[in-house]
Amino acid sequence: MTEPAAAEDTATERGPYSEPSPSAIELVSLCDARFGAKYIARLTDPQGAKAALGTRCHSIAEAYQRDGTAPNRAETFEIIKYGTPKTYYPGRIVSNILHHLPPAGTTPNVEGRMSFVHRGITFNGRIDWQNETTIGDHKFTSNPYGSWVKTPDKLTRDPQRIMYSHDWFARHDADTVTAQWTYGDFNAKSSRVIKVEGSRVEIRNLLDEVVMPAAEKLLRYVSDQRDWNSLPKNTTACGTFPPNGCPYAAQCTRTKQQRIEGLMTSPYLLKIRAQKAAADAKAAAAVAPTPAQAPANDVPSADVETDEADAKVAIVGAINPPGEAADAPLDAPESKPSAPSEAPKRGRGRPPKAKVEAPGAAETQPAAAQSADTKKSLVLLINTIAMRGMPDVIFASDLIAQANNHIKSSYDVLDYRAGGNDAVDYGKGAGLLAACIVGLIEDLPADSVVYLDTTSPEGSLALQPLMAAATTVLRGN
Ligand code: SF4
Repeated sequence: MTEPAAAEDTATERGPYSEPSPSAIELVSLCDARFGAKYIARLTDPQGAKAALGTRCHSIAEAYQRDGTAPNRAETFEIIKYGTPKTYYPGRIVSNILHHLPPAGTTPNVEGRMSFVHRGITFNGRIDWQNETTIGDHKFTSNPYGSWVKTPDKLTRDPQRIMYSHDWFARHDADTVTAQWTYGDFNAKSSRVIKVEGSRVEIRNLLDEVVMPAAEKLLRYVSDQRDWNSLPKNTTACGTFPPNGCPYAAQCTRTKQQRIEGLMTSPYLLKIRAQKAAADAKAAAAVAPTPAQAPANDVPSADVETDEADAKVAIVGAINPPGEAADAPLDAPESKPSAPSEAPKRGRGRPPKAKVEAPGAAETQPAAAQSADTKKSLVLLINTIAMRGMPDVIFASDLIAQANNHIKSSYDVLDYRAGGNDAVDYGKGAGLLAACIVGLIEDLPADSVVYLDTTSPEGSLALQPLMAAATTVLRGN
């Protein structure tokens, strides 16, 4: 099984979904609407590149366990991420977990069918491997120590483990079974095993307690032919699983508030938040007075570790007050007397008249234009990580391009920097661009989330107006 708990069983199925698999149980437990999108509406769930790599690793592990076929360590698997190719070695990834598995070719049941009936419901699935003592599952991931890895506590109540164990007990006269989840690192540098033991009675109880309510619920959804978008939505699941979160996000009719919640609880942003908090804690520790100098009521420096741990579970909320920013000043030349008194219309909205007449005023206008009470919610992500592929994010680069297009068409110049005619003098295009961006920001709907990369000259120009408009700011490194 790969990270996204498997896309194993629906793409080719016909007719109403009727025999819950571990994947379906996990999905409905994650988000009812997401289950409905996949299993009722049958929306496509495209397999990501990492999932395809995981599938290849599974095949190699299967061949090793079933036939003793040694992994080919020279085999390559290329993934292009943000335009940059990266080569992975599935044979090496699998080689890295082999010491956790039974010897080559000795596993009697590899990729065997799981099938049992409990309280009138038929359950189906596949088990990576099993023998006389153990049921096993492979997971391939970028980080075997990441937060999604199932710790023993999580694995104990994991529907997949419960269902596999129940199926195993039906065919073995034994009191206990061990569940072994083996995690392999996509970079072939580490591996990890999580094991828990379960008794027959315990598994039976967990089946009734954990699996059956979810199974009955999902079958009710299917028999009622519920519109998936009407099912309960769990916005904390929108960013799960990596790399791009829920594949149905674009079609999911979430409110703006729900979309913001979904974005803010994405693993990406939580990770960035944790990293920033850890960096801040370290910086604070570095400048903290020595124990001899510290006042008696100061927090001991040993608390830094606790702060870091706390930060890792902190919810992203009001991250950095916008006022904290200390960024490159706007290039704000004086206005040109011959500048037009009103900018021609753009695609969406128009720049405020005064700002176009005096582009330099854009440096201070936005903050003054909106009081704290009337400011609409705008979340600004600055240099966090590449956000392409994440739903619901507006890219400042698109706003910049829109503003530049407006200047090009309105002032008959090749580029906002070109100038040279009566409308835009040399050196003053930057201020005009910033003024246009202000107008575009004002046109954004409330609760917008904007991603800004400040490494380009235009990005730094957009920074100030966006900072002035933002109610929540999250900075990357
Ligand atoms: S986008 Fe979020 S709320 Fe909507 S189906 Fe996906 S996980 Fe559920």
